[in-house]
Amino acid sequence: MRKPSGKKAKTNTKTTNTETSVARALRVWEDDPGTGVEVSLDSRPDPSATPLAYRFPAPAPEPSDDNTSFAFRYWSAAAALRRGADFWAPRVPSGEWKLGPVLPVLLDKGEDLNAFYDRQALNFFHGTSPDGVVFSGASPDIVCHEMGHAILDSVKPQLFDAGSQEAAAFHESFGDMSAILSDLQLPSLRAALLQDTGGHVSRNSRLSRLAEQLGAAIRAQAPDAVDRDCLRNASNSFSYADPSTLPSVAPASQLSSEAHSFSRVFTGAFLDALGAMLRAYAADPATPTADELANVSLHIRDILMEAIANAPVVSNFMAQVATGMVAASASLNAAYPDILKEAFTRRAIISLQTSVMATSRHHASVAAMTESSARSLSGIPLDQVALPAAQYGINEPLMVATPSHPRRVLATAAQPDLTPADPMSAVSAATQFVDDLFARGRVDLGEMETRKSVIRLGGRLKTHKLVREKGALTLRRILFDCGLCQQ
Ligand SMILES: [Zn+2]
Repeated sequence: MRKPSGKKAKTNTKTTNTETSVARALRVWEDDPGTGVEVSLDSRPDPSATPLAYRFPAPAPEPSDDNTSFAFRYWSAAAALRRGADFWAPRVPSGEWKLGPVLPVLLDKGEDLNAFYDRQALNFFHGTSPDGVVFSGASPDIVCHEMGHAILDSVKPQLFDAGSQEAAAFHESFGDMSAILSDLQLPSLRAALLQDTGGHVSRNSRLSRLAEQLGAAIRAQAPDAVDRDCLRNASNSFSYADPSTLPSVAPASQLSSEAHSFSRVFTGAFLDALGAMLRAYAADPATPTADELANVSLHIRDILMEAIANAPVVSNFMAQVATGMVAASASLNAAYPDILKEAFTRRAIISLQTSVMATSRHHASVAAMTESSARSLSGIPLDQVALPAAQYGINEPLMVATPSHPRRVLATAAQPDLTPADPMSAVSAATQFVDDLFARGRVDLGEMETRKSVIRLGGRLKTHKLVREKGALTLRRILFDCGLCQQ
């Protein structure tokens, strides 16, 4: 094995008094090994703390200041995962993962430039880069992205199997939002960010650049597969387009229907909104403080989770969540609804009509009437529909979970001419989604593997599999990865 890729450490000196005045018990990566910034923590995190406990199979090593050591990677992951779960926990009503009270964390499952959540564990790997060996589990950005998948799976489990490009992309966006918001729970990072961006936190920064080190490792193999300065940059200008109109695969500079690529639309709007909300909330908009940023991170968390809880799983899921965020924000700050409307309409995630409706009295009354029933959506499974599968070389129907929740409010995205986009039917959305999966070779064919007629394309990592349930051939999701491998 090549030498682990370490960085000459820069220690973030803008730590709080609490962090600087106590014994430095632990040094860990602040956001990503690629930035090379370490932070000293005053106590060791407890991965097994509840709610939202983790289990690391390996015994906890003694902390080490050697940033190429297993101990440094272990504590970087443990600190980030604890911080992230503690941040989300107040908004996870069950207090548990989808799996149960404890989620295993497998820090190094072998060689791959990858990481994934599969409802059994958070899984991380190591791989080579020109700078040496990189470990996906060493990056707070990556571990909090994967943990984000697990959080969303706990509160909206129907999204896991939903045959929907937007649902899959939103899951990826939530992972990136989880990384961003978890980063912001570190006082030292907040202070550095405000200084680096002059208080404009939606600008390109260490916060917006996710997974710099793994991004560099992948870029060395595939120069256009990731952004120029990281894996994915939340500071971007991508606008919504119906995913069925986008190419299945595209270079990182363009939008495709692939979930990680398409997720950047929502994440970009989210970061825009975060920046504007901070300026609206700050006592002095020109110089927001780290404490004000901490409060706004809690506000946007609550707004996002409220909207997700109420959003039906339908083909234009992003418009549903965005509309819900506008409506949910009014109770926190009178300036927030207009900020969120602007962030989402500028990127066409919601149409102008939906933007107006989201804060109308009529919508508020409809939302209030349907809130209790909307919450009960959490218990409603998606319709399983038999789709024709002859185009994949399969001579029997394929059962797929369609994005089929009832719509109580017509929230729409915008078309390029700014008129409202009629949402696709649940069956059409699922058909598009399955076409994409087969085109990218992301389906484990299971018993169909031996059938000569079945199409087989590329795709190293399988996200879905064909299984037989009650006699019917059924498509099930296996995992969400973090987009580290080439699609
Ligand atoms: Zn992911």
